[in-house]
Amino acid sequence: SKKLDGKIAVVTAAGQGIGRASALAFAEAGATVWATDINEGALASLDGIANIRTARLDVLDAGAVAGFFGRVGRVDVLFNCAGVVHGGTVLELADKDLDFAFNLNVRAMIRTIQAVLPGMLERGDGAIINMASIASSSKGVPNRCAYGVTKAAVIGLTKSVAADYVAKGIRCNAICPGTVESPSLEERMRAQGNYEEARAAFIARQPMGRLGTPEEIADLAVHLASATYTTGQAYGIDGGWSI
Ligand code: NAD
Repeated sequence: SKKLDGKIAVVTAAGQGIGRASALAFAEAGATVWATDINEGALASLDGIANIRTARLDVLDAGAVAGFFGRVGRVDVLFNCAGVVHGGTVLELADKDLDFAFNLNVRAMIRTIQAVLPGMLERGDGAIINMASIASSSKGVPNRCAYGVTKAAVIGLTKSVAADYVAKGIRCNAICPGTVESPSLEERMRAQGNYEEARAAFIARQPMGRLGTPEEIADLAVHLASATYTTGQAYGIDGGWSI
């Protein structure tokens, strides 16, 4: 039998990057997967893959989130992967940018958790995985103020949920990656003007001398979906960045 046989999993931001790799890995591990994203074009790349269903879901839209989870019904594994990276220091941080980062990186996770928890509690079983980052309460990273603030909040949220429901069959863990190859990272490297130099700088901060792959992070997500004695943890998976 496989690690996630019989499980129903929902992944947000599954159109590309770590979310997409995780949807594939969950399905490979035996789960029935709802791969969701705001970008339907990206989701189309998952069409026709065994055990994966796709649905457009904007996690910022409270009504859409309630409607989606109402339709899906039972969810055994929730992977909150949606998140946005804002650049800049505290002096450059505009209220509207902090609001946007907080809404997407934190409030949206709270909403999906509120949608799945009652059912998980009824069944006395559920695994919630929240995407944080090493840039959080784990590590200060230059020029990532809104990101660090909100990803630290994700760790706080994770531990809070874990503490409240530890005796009720619910586990909640966070994943804290270092720098991982993904379409949005590619965009950020291109946006810096000199792509090669930007890429070299991202690689230079990773002591292993390379970026992580979405598949390496997806491996950890599968583990946390099935690790029955593990809860409330913020897992660094960062190529040694935080050693
Ligand atoms: P990505 O940034 O390339 O893709 C993000 C996906 O999120 C896109 O498919 C996009 O359409 C979707 N999305 C954006 N807004 C959405 C919304 N409102 N509702 C639903 N989906 C939405 O992917 P990535 O780089 O793998 O990042 C995924 C997560 O991992 C993020 O939370 C990010 O902060 C975190 N993370 C990434 C890295 C990295 O180096 N790539 C490092 C640490 C943490």
